[in-house]
Amino acid sequence: MADYDAIVVGAGHNGLTAATVLARNGLSVLCVEKNNWPGGMAATRELFSGFKHNVGAWGMLVFRDQMLKLLELDKYGLELMRPRTSYCVYGAPEDVCFIGYTDVNEITQHLMNDHGPDAMESLAGLYNYLQKFKAVVDQELFKPPTPLDTLIANAPDAETREMLLRTVYGSAIDVLRQFFPDPKKHRLIQGSLCASAIDGTHMSPFSPGSGLSLAYHYTMGDAYDFRTPRGGIGALSKALVESLEDHGGKVQYGTPVKRFLIENGETAGVELKSGEKISARVVLSSLDAHATFLRMVGEDRLPSDFVQGVKEIEYRNGYLQIHMTVKELPEFTGHLAFTNENNIRWLMAYIPSPEHIARHWEQYRRGQVPDDPLAYCAFPSVNDPTLAPQGYHTCTIFSPYFPYDVPEGKLKEMSMLMADRAIDQIARRAPNFRDAIMDKAVLTHRWFENTYGVTGGDYASGLLHPGQMWHRRPVVGWANYRTPIENLFMCGSGCHPGPGITCVPGYNGANEVLKDWKG
Ligand SMILES: Cc1cc2nc3c(=O)[nH]c(=O)nc-3n(C[C@H](O)[C@H](O)[C@H](O)COP(=O)(O)OP(=O)(O)OC[C@H]3O[C@@H](n4cnc5c(N)ncnc54)[C@H](O)[C@@H]3O)c2cc1C
Repeated sequence: MADYDAIVVGAGHNGLTAATVLARNGLSVLCVEKNNWPGGMAATRELFSGFKHNVGAWGMLVFRDQMLKLLELDKYGLELMRPRTSYCVYGAPEDVCFIGYTDVNEITQHLMNDHGPDAMESLAGLYNYLQKFKAVVDQELFKPPTPLDTLIANAPDAETREMLLRTVYGSAIDVLRQFFPDPKKHRLIQGSLCASAIDGTHMSPFSPGSGLSLAYHYTMGDAYDFRTPRGGIGALSKALVESLEDHGGKVQYGTPVKRFLIENGETAGVELKSGEKISARVVLSSLDAHATFLRMVGEDRLPSDFVQGVKEIEYRNGYLQIHMTVKELPEFTGHLAFTNENNIRWLMAYIPSPEHIARHWEQYRRGQVPDDPLAYCAFPSVNDPTLAPQGYHTCTIFSPYFPYDVPEGKLKEMSMLMADRAIDQIARRAPNFRDAIMDKAVLTHRWFENTYGVTGGDYASGLLHPGQMWHRRPVVGWANYRTPIENLFMCGSGCHPGPGITCVPGYNGANEVLKDWKG
């Protein structure tokens, strides 16, 4: 008799989703987590006394409200907030800022009045185009995906086929140029779209394949807007833990798994780093494919072509996350002074153009620190005062393109240099910013690798490249949450449909287990 029906490895939001779904269906479930807190890369933690930071993910950009209902998250205290703006993208003084109002009327007015009717038309054209892609995504969300090439070949008409081909295999620029034919005009808007396209990739917006990442960011969720739970992103996992416990399951923290126990080609449970063994009828791994198969199962227990497939997955994703506490908000001057009003400054992003991103891609590829990094600078406590003591604020800067292969001996120097450049970008426009900073922690992809066991520190758990999505995620022939080991399932964002805070891989992985269980 096994100790549990199911063990879920990892209490990130997907592992917790899978555990909750199984517990709600009557299985006895244990979720084991290496750290002493839940949430994985979507955790909120007190890095500095009295302040709460979203350590990895900040916003639910690709989340579907459908999941709130399916998991009854509001019953367990999850409250999603939608700030008035999701970002203010700025560039040179002569560039009109692009403000991501989350209300459709407000953004329409902003585009019409500040950027002109053609900007409005271009953006609306792009959104409509992407809606066609969304229709395809929607059909594939809750099932093992149809092979991409079959989807494209079976497209209902030539126009849809062309749209799918261009979006999946073309560059972000190939997609954009249909609606923004002039590279210079509306370059901030184009830049902000391209910044989404490189998120979770090892690409420039001009690289073939970056069109898919652009489409993913705009079609996975209900809308491309910014929502975040009250109390920080970790409130999602807190709600999932409560639901799990309410249904008889439990999470055991500070419990790193060393390997999966496998007998006669079947999982029998897990062996912890402590040497303890816990048995279960099924095991679900929310870790990425590399960690699951090469670290926890072992090559010798797997078919060689499968091992080769896992080894070919790319996880090269270099970035920097700077967490700070500040005693006052930045007072922007000059053409950005207007952002001090109405909380627009809560998230400022320096993205002057697609070419700027491409230039930094080249620097990053050569192992250099970008000279004026693409950076999102947020003050989450402006919208959620529960995150900081009264009168103070939390600040986080996310900056992609931190050189991936930095030698260990140079890591500190280079990360500090990039952090300084990102901070300077704000300080040049808000002279009080440097003196307002009280504490600072500079985290790189290496920190995320060490803390969460994600291969290469890749927050996409397998980059958002066409060769690693859909039926190829994680490996061709195994996009159904099953593995070559009987009763070992996958349930993390290394599976279909992919990265970000979605809860979908966890939900789908658990449902795949239930198919056998009920059968
Ligand atoms: C800096 C940064 C910014 C991001 N921004 C956003 C954003 O704004 N919006 C968005 O949607 N997404 C964002 N993401 C991506 C998002 O955080 C991830 O896609 C998502 O959290 C992955 O969830 P998961 O549950 O699949 O995996 P994880 O969160 O990686 O969970 C896996 C869990 O397994 C645990 N674990 C690992 N090894 C072991 C072991 N041996 N034994 C036991 N437990 C183990 C880990 O500690 C972790 O808790 C960001 C990520 C980062 C790092």
